[in-house]
Amino acid sequence: MYKIAYFSAEIGISSKLPTYSGGLGVLAGDHIKAAADASVPLCAVTLLYKEGYFKQRIDEEGNQTETYPRFDPDPIMQQLPVEFSLPLQGRVVNIRAWQYIHRGLTGHEIPIFLLDTDVESNRPEDRIITLRLYSGDKNHRILQEAILGFGGIRLLQALNINNIESYHMNEGHCSFLTLELLRKYKGNQDEVRKRCVFTTHTPVPAGHDHFAMERCKNLLDGLIPDNLELPSLVQNSRMHMTELGLYFSRAANGVSKLHGSVARDQFPDFAINHITNGVYHNYWVGKPFRELFDRVFPRWRLNPEELLRIDEIPDEDILEARRSLKNFLLGYANSQTQKALSENILTLGFARRAASYKRARLIFRDLDRLVEIGQGKIQIIFAGKAHPKDDLGKDILKDIVGNANRLFGTVKVVFLENYNMWLGRIITAGVDVWLNTPVRPHEASGTSGMKATLNGIPNLSVLDGWWDEACQDGVNGWAIGSRSETDDEKDADHLYSILEHQVIPTYYNDQDRWLKLIRAAIKTGVRFTAHRMMRDYENQLYK
Ligand SMILES: *Cc1c(COP(=O)(O)O)cnc(C)c1O
Repeated sequence: MYKIAYFSAEIGISSKLPTYSGGLGVLAGDHIKAAADASVPLCAVTLLYKEGYFKQRIDEEGNQTETYPRFDPDPIMQQLPVEFSLPLQGRVVNIRAWQYIHRGLTGHEIPIFLLDTDVESNRPEDRIITLRLYSGDKNHRILQEAILGFGGIRLLQALNINNIESYHMNEGHCSFLTLELLRKYKGNQDEVRKRCVFTTHTPVPAGHDHFAMERCKNLLDGLIPDNLELPSLVQNSRMHMTELGLYFSRAANGVSKLHGSVARDQFPDFAINHITNGVYHNYWVGKPFRELFDRVFPRWRLNPEELLRIDEIPDEDILEARRSLKNFLLGYANSQTQKALSENILTLGFARRAASYKRARLIFRDLDRLVEIGQGKIQIIFAGKAHPKDDLGKDILKDIVGNANRLFGTVKVVFLENYNMWLGRIITAGVDVWLNTPVRPHEASGTSGMKATLNGIPNLSVLDGWWDEACQDGVNGWAIGSRSETDDEKDADHLYSILEHQVIPTYYNDQDRWLKLIRAAIKTGVRFTAHRMMRDYENQLYK
């Protein structure tokens, strides 16, 4: 039976399921896939968002509009024959659950349970609690987190899943589960703490949910014990979801070495280690490389360490796989835009959520210089969604498209709509260089760069998150800026200088050296697979 219950507000297991928004969800999906391949006795709990996050359209000026196509779960999910409820806002909210089975490479199955309040017997305003991911106001968010945390534990009970040894909270959205366990164990905190582990994912304070205690108590009828004594929480009269999860956990981790130390500064009352994220290589490695590796390293899917023998593969085969991945991406990009991107031009990629710390605009800081260095020599592909209520995020998208328009006829820049796992895979496999310019140390880990690496794509990135521990400057990619300070002007200047003096000349004039970069990138990727990550979770967190 299941020993680990993995809770996450979003899970990105396939682009078929709209139940994720970005890195956190995709990581959760990769965690589950790696657990399945390693036959880890894990089940997962999340919410069923029937209108997902949203589908993105971007007009010619860069304005984002959102639509919400409705998800039809049949036949990839089955409704489970259980119904249970929670007392919320003075009434009873009925909850049902769906099951999606992920089967690993050796046949081990992991069920994902998706909670759903769209039940006929509920009032219309309760039926939409789980409708959309990260939607609504604070009250709505508390209700969603209550369904996930309190409701998730009630679901496991309804399914007779009774022997969980580790309730794994993937970020604070799930932390209410600790209070439901506290009730189950009759107020004995040690019994709860014995069974809970926590992973924190963001160094950005605004990324941590906290709610006024009064508001929580008003919405969650009797679910929060009156005598709850959580030192810093009570002191601030706030329910800080990360602190709540950490307080009731026997062990906790950040998601890269650097982030571990940042998280310890953020939450000094708790012992926090780190387990660096990894990506599920069998999904993120593009098809031509999958076929090539299947041929040369038949065991690489379960043993990605086989890829350390990449030097046994001839140059021509590697170049052919790279060409094929690039052609596929450019074919797609050219079908969506009218910029006639060329297969012979060095292509940079930048795709991620439009959050301001990610500094998507850094490369446009000096357009004249960008043209001087890059005209006829580089082209850039962007993608990424802004949260529907995030006006600053939407401004970022407008600026990217605005700059692309200003650069018309010089350096080609395209924006591809509706970044999701499918697009993520073809972009992170198809470009020549993966660009990342966050404000250090605000990128907890970053995983898109790992996906690129496994496809033989060197990273050109600030030394933040995973890249801080992976970068060998000039060998598997390049380091932008310094570890001691972050400064837009200096970082942009350094970025231009690396492009001009290293990336562009190597790409066009030194194919041997470029091949070495490709091989070194793939070897680096071996350290950042979800398989390695799962071993770390088993040895450090689940033990
Ligand atoms: C991998 C991935 C992310 C996370 O990328 P970061 O580099 O961590 O920002 C976000 N969205 C999608 C669709 C992805 O595939």
